[in-house]
Amino acid sequence: MSQQRKDWDTYFMDIAYMASTRSRCSRRKVGAVLVQGKKLLGTAYNGAPSGVEDCSEAGCMLVEEYEVKVENGEQKLIRKQRCVRTIHAEQNLLLFTDRHDREGSTVYVTDQPCWTCANMLANSGIVEIVYDRPYPKDAEKVEELMRKKKIKFRKLEGYRPPPGVEADVTH
Ligand SMILES: [Zn+2]
Ligand SMILES: [Zn+2]
Repeated sequence: MSQQRKDWDTYFMDIAYMASTRSRCSRRKVGAVLVQGKKLLGTAYNGAPSGVEDCSEAGCMLVEEYEVKVENGEQKLIRKQRCVRTIHAEQNLLLFTDRHDREGSTVYVTDQPCWTCANMLANSGIVEIVYDRPYPKDAEKVEELMRKKKIKFRKLEGYRPPPGVEADVTH
């Protein structure tokens, strides 16, 4: 039983990675799929709104932000760059699926969702999120939110993306 479960997990995460290869942001390629039982209801990746120049045409739209890190009891500000040109994969997934379909469903996503996406997913009707690559920046508050909403939130342990689909990620 648990073996069978694992196979479906791998199958759907592989599809999420395939979807991520459609992204044209060179800094970050994220894919997400919506699954009801064993049925695939939607796939999405991060990208600019349709008809608008994407990162490969117009370059990434970078913003700088500071992240607070505590090291040895000292607060440190770390400067980071982030591309904001794209709609995140999870948000596109919500835009292109129906509320009715989402009730009780699972999202497989290549990367642990950021705070904004997690917040939207938490209100979308889904009951489970499965991810592969960690995103430590928002992890703590996202995990707390999922606990409050009783949404199953798990990293797919022991998973390896199919060869050739995993892009380098710039955090
Ligand atoms: Zn970009
Ligand atoms: Zn996001």
